[in-house]
Amino acid sequence: MPYRMKCPEYRRLLTLYADATGDLWELTSMLADAATSYESDAFARAWEQCESARQFCADIREQMYEHLERHHCALNLNSGGTVRQ
Ligand SMILES: [Zn+2]
Repeated sequence: MPYRMKCPEYRRLLTLYADATGDLWELTSMLADAATSYESDAFARAWEQCESARQFCADIREQMYEHLERHHCALNLNSGGTVRQ
């Protein structure tokens, strides 16, 4: 890794994003089960949950971009980020 991110808010967003993508992965892996379910609306519900989880991931990414634009911590300017040589 070229640098270590020390900005606590960006780290929080990264952790949140990692958790959210993990949740999305779990939900999408359940789609196949839902497709073979005898419940008529099981697949539609599972799909809706996936879409909601995907949107949550997109929202977090947007927050990450907005944060970087405002805080510039990825550039190590004013957040305490450390560039390794
Ligand atoms: Zn930051």
